[in-house]
Amino acid sequence: MKIALTGNPNSGKTTLFNLYTGASQYVGNWPGVTVEKKEGTAKWQGESVTLVDLPGVYSLSPYSMEEIVTRQVLVNERPDVLIDVIDGTNLERNLYLAVQLMELSVPLVLAVNMMDEVEAKGDRLDCQSLARLLGIPVVPIAARKGENTDELLRVAVDLAKTVPYNPAEPVGSLRYDGATGKALREVFAILRELPRLQSLPLWFYAAKLLEGDADAAKTLDLPAEQTARIEEAVKAWESSALYGDRETMLADTRYKIITAICRGAIVKARSEGALTLSDRIDLVVTNRVLALPLFLFIMFVIFAATFGPLGSILSDGTGALIGDGLGDWVTRLLDNADAPAWTYGLLVDAVIGGVGGVITFLPQILILFTCLSILEDSGYMARAAFIMDRLLHKIGLTGKSFIPMLMGFGCTTPAVMAARTMENERDRRLTIMIIPFMSCGARLPIYALFAGTFFAARQGLVVFFMYLLGMLVAVGSGLLLKNTLFRGAVAPFVMELPPYRLPSPAALARHVWEKGKGFLIKAGTVIFSMSVLVWLLQNFDWSLRLVSDNADSIFASIGRLLAPLFAPLGFGEWQASVSVLAGVVAKETVVSSMIVLYGAASQAELAAMLPGIFTPAAAFSFMVFCLLYMPCISAFVSIRREMNSLKWALGTALFETAAAYFIAMIAYHIANMVL
Ligand code: GDP
Ligand code: MG
Repeated sequence: MKIALTGNPNSGKTTLFNLYTGASQYVGNWPGVTVEKKEGTAKWQGESVTLVDLPGVYSLSPYSMEEIVTRQVLVNERPDVLIDVIDGTNLERNLYLAVQLMELSVPLVLAVNMMDEVEAKGDRLDCQSLARLLGIPVVPIAARKGENTDELLRVAVDLAKTVPYNPAEPVGSLRYDGATGKALREVFAILRELPRLQSLPLWFYAAKLLEGDADAAKTLDLPAEQTARIEEAVKAWESSALYGDRETMLADTRYKIITAICRGAIVKARSEGALTLSDRIDLVVTNRVLALPLFLFIMFVIFAATFGPLGSILSDGTGALIGDGLGDWVTRLLDNADAPAWTYGLLVDAVIGGVGGVITFLPQILILFTCLSILEDSGYMARAAFIMDRLLHKIGLTGKSFIPMLMGFGCTTPAVMAARTMENERDRRLTIMIIPFMSCGARLPIYALFAGTFFAARQGLVVFFMYLLGMLVAVGSGLLLKNTLFRGAVAPFVMELPPYRLPSPAALARHVWEKGKGFLIKAGTVIFSMSVLVWLLQNFDWSLRLVSDNADSIFASIGRLLAPLFAPLGFGEWQASVSVLAGVVAKETVVSSMIVLYGAASQAELAAMLPGIFTPAAAFSFMVFCLLYMPCISAFVSIRREMNSLKWALGTALFETAAAYFIAMIAYHIANMVL
């Protein structure tokens, strides 16, 4: 049995999906978080139910990627039941999708979510009337608290068992009257004549043909006779209206019915136009003058918290635990076993030093992601995107890029995928190209190490600057690309601002836990293997003999080739050069490789050595380079996939590395003058 969750963006589908399946898909208080369909299994009274979480959509027109994905699943994979998750505080707009879903003839349950907010506002939503007016089951729920969600699943499973898919009729009792209803019935009757179409949701296709949807016409591939008759029916329908195109006419008909339904089912406590708490907060937060300073201030506070005393103490503690605790213990173990000298290098230096050196930064990563999650869940990040849109639009970019860009603070890979929400292909490619400039979590260990060592007093400020620089370079190169490769008009950006919500501690904990878990898994796999590989490459020469001096190793010879390239940036040492190379696998490995390459036993030991190797200006330039150069392999792979072209992905990597090179060089010279 297959049940699909659909609904507008930000209505709580993923929250519900996670609740039922025990999965932990990304939940965020902004539209456009889920861009792919996700499947999971839920148990209902011993039975397995397949649940599909779909990207949020406002309608079933194929304009953006998420609409295409959703429509594809709903029409072609035809689930047994649909649960339309709607935001109870915004009934009217959410019902616009519901009435279209009814045309699919797949049994439908309306899950009216956010009932807690509806009640808090004092509105009264009459679900029984709603069910009667629509003719489908309606279940009020509060997904985040898990209220009434068992009942919802029961109703859905029940429906799947008792009501079959019947393409002859739309679901529910809504029927359009007037000219639109007549035209719809006519087109439907014509489609029904063709036996090969019998199993398709023909009411849906009839409506799409009225709208003039080219995609639907192509799928149906109608014979000339039927096409001509449908055209005739459409003409008659069009001439019944005084104004408007076909799409607007159909939308109009739908909204008239919806307005009537809302009048019958909802009693609002507040009169329209009265300001809600969210509105009042927004008067300040999105204020034309205050918005940007406030955004920067909030970001600054976050970095000060992450790299301030608390973060540093926790990290130092973790470092000591790993280095002194585990490291010493293993050393003693090896001493007792009379182990050969190279085992110390491999186990203590490479594995414990390298992997442990990265894990040291776990507390800071957790603090940063707690802060970012709070911003996201509260709804502030959506405002940040809105504020940026105003700025970006002025210089000819679309603010829609900014949501994926903000997601890039977490990890480049999902951010690149989130760019699918952009309808305009040129803008989407442009966005993908600049997302890697946004500083992802993996770069944090690099900043923490270098900023902590060289700019201890102003750590927070320096790291804040790195993030800011990343954003500036992203916007700057966006501008450059827009005026060269991707010329074209800017698509208007209409984003709906979700209301402010108190972040739920459970969701927050899960977010942060996922991040921490991901980081530890990466440490145990990628960073572990890289540390071992780096150790091998710097202890063996090209004829695979153990070297007594690292300077004769394979890595040293590669590094010496690269080093002159980096000399103008201030870090022309072979060890630094090959760490940058290793960082392509995962940016954390820049730090773990350095620990191994410089023969430090721990992160703290490396930190003590660094001032003898880098000047502060070189350290600064190194951070800038690591911020901007090509993203890691996994991000590269997703860029290739999303762009559907190796050439574009390589071009992106090259563009970014070149930008990194020149900007780091400039940074080095400026830092040299200032410091
Ligand atoms: P999706 O875009 O439909 O997948 O929606 P999400 O599941 O990502 O949720 C969007 C936002 O709504 C998140 O901030 C959730 O925490 C919040 N949310 C979900 N369900 C409820 C609910 O029942 N009540 C309230 N107040 N918020 C909810
Ligand atoms: Mg979602």
